[in-house]
Amino acid sequence: MAKKSAEKKEVASFTYQKKSVYESVSKEEVAKAFTYAEDYKKFLDICKTEREAVAESVRMCEAKGFVPFRFGDKLKVGGKYYYNNRDKNFFAFVIGSEPVSEGVRITGAHIDSPRLDLKPVPLYEDLGMAFLKTHYYGGIRKYQWPTIPLALHGVVIKKDGEKVSVTIGEDDRDPILYITDLLPHLAREDNNKPLGTAIPAEKLNLLIGAMPAETDADNKVKQNVLNILHDKYGIEEEDFISAELSAVPAAKARDVGLDRSLIAAYGHDDRVCANPALTALLDAADQAKHTMLCILSDKEETGSDGPSGMQCDLFVDLMDEIARFGKVSPAFLRSVSKCVSSDVSACMDPNFPEVFERSNASLLGYGITMNKYTGSGGKYGTNDATAEYVGFIRRAMASENVVWQIAELGRVDAGGGGTIAKYVSSHNIDTIDMGVGVLSMHAPVEIVAKVDLYEAYKAFKAFDTF
Ligand code: MN
Ligand code: MN
Repeated sequence: MAKKSAEKKEVASFTYQKKSVYESVSKEEVAKAFTYAEDYKKFLDICKTEREAVAESVRMCEAKGFVPFRFGDKLKVGGKYYYNNRDKNFFAFVIGSEPVSEGVRITGAHIDSPRLDLKPVPLYEDLGMAFLKTHYYGGIRKYQWPTIPLALHGVVIKKDGEKVSVTIGEDDRDPILYITDLLPHLAREDNNKPLGTAIPAEKLNLLIGAMPAETDADNKVKQNVLNILHDKYGIEEEDFISAELSAVPAAKARDVGLDRSLIAAYGHDDRVCANPALTALLDAADQAKHTMLCILSDKEETGSDGPSGMQCDLFVDLMDEIARFGKVSPAFLRSVSKCVSSDVSACMDPNFPEVFERSNASLLGYGITMNKYTGSGGKYGTNDATAEYVGFIRRAMASENVVWQIAELGRVDAGGGGTIAKYVSSHNIDTIDMGVGVLSMHAPVEIVAKVDLYEAYKAFKAFDTF
């Protein structure tokens, strides 16, 4: 009798085992991810607000031959269009070569991030210091914002209607703004407060000056700040009322780790999905088979309301225009269209394992994360993608060997969160959440893995083209 081979026999395994990107792809592919991350970091540094992200997206689209679309414009097969909604919300779309009646492939990310917005009457003086009052935007942990360098970004509409752009604190020579905190020596009582209440919202005031103007008027320090603002931008105190000014971290995107595998930056949520969703569409545009639409929405962090949020009818209006061009009923077009809601997920953090459930958690470096549903306890407030649609997405991901993983947003009843998915699916459009896992989500500086970012790009491209 022949001796049995010592070689291990390949045994069929029916287990689901997550594999990290590093175990799944070649070294060349990892190198591509690192290269891709360089452009992404540049995007982050120039896009700290939704307005800046829209301006950059317009530039990226125009560089690829996209033209602005106005309602009533004639569309054509192969046409590449963008729609700039109020400089805060952006749509890029391509009419593919196949009939429109095959449906639209939609990716939807958001470009607003948690931050501190100025109040309408923000400027005041106290004890020889001038401050700007803020009203936080989105879900922040307030204790994270004092004592870090902050920059001011936004626009001011002056009383004559002129629009002035403001950016203070990004150039290395610029001054920055700052929120003070209590010294430990006098924080004995403060230290016993729960994290959530230790820093009340009304204490998040930005220090903006401490030198008096030469004037007989009261509030000389405030007056000095107003003089400087007037010299530099031509604005007056009342102009703050018609302004959108936000304090954001003044830090630039940086590599993290000696292996440089991670990126620390402000606003990964959700530019880490917005950027690959848009670049995937731009790279697929010239060979577009399907009609494709990439949505970069605003106001996701505060509920997707308002004319630049995902609940605005503008999305449906644009879909209607595409339906008209394709000579199909708008309702039919929506029923055959498909969406990937491209938003971040929470990476399991080994420092806080108690809020995750490992088998159903997003793992850092394990590829793009799919969330069949989001919401919170008892699956409230969620788009729950159908099993059939999840099956379709699995096949799309397999077509391009995308490394992806399934996850829930944390342990059941630990909390929860939502995305734009439910607002898209409410139009009778199959939708699923897919995005990059983030550590320290909504902190002033968040962390993502470069390989997860690149798998997101591959995933959105696979979805656009499958
Ligand atoms: Mn998000
Ligand atoms: Mn968020």
